[in-house]
Amino acid sequence: MQKRAVFLDRDGVINRSDGKPPNTPEELVLLPKVSEAISRLNAAGFLVFVVTNQGGVGLGYMTKKSLDRIHEKLLQEVKEGGGRIDEIKACTHRPRAGCSCRKPKPGMILDLAAKYDIDLAKSYMVGDRDSDIEAGRAAGIKTIFIGNRAEAPEEADFTAPDLFSAAEMILRE
Ligand SMILES: [Mg+2]
Ligand SMILES: [Zn+2]
Repeated sequence: MQKRAVFLDRDGVINRSDGKPPNTPEELVLLPKVSEAISRLNAAGFLVFVVTNQGGVGLGYMTKKSLDRIHEKLLQEVKEGGGRIDEIKACTHRPRAGCSCRKPKPGMILDLAAKYDIDLAKSYMVGDRDSDIEAGRAAGIKTIFIGNRAEAPEEADFTAPDLFSAAEMILRE
């Protein structure tokens, strides 16, 4: 049987990103109740993935090694909080490189869906930008915008104030 999955944007959904995403593991600070949210999704049988645009690597602001260290810390902190992230996928290409993985393109979602045999129609993309919602729609999955309802793109299926509320919404559906 195909599995269901929740695809999470990283900056502003999992970790704080007040205008500036973390460039070092020390700068990575998880938002409240993120591990609990992921743990609940795990318990309900969802695979949980992170799909993140990290064009700063392609632009030379950050090395791939720093990004890997940030993601090791992210996996570890979520694990310590009782949650499991199945895989983190990052587009490290320059923003205008024309790759097929940078959101709003759906490449990262589609690659993971093929690799893990995911039922896209029963899966979700959670993000805080229009490009996250667009990527989810392009992949044919349901979308949840994190933020104020007034700022939500029209195309988003749902809006939630944070990841924990989004997870509750998914579990109620
Ligand atoms: Mg974001
Ligand atoms: Zn890319």
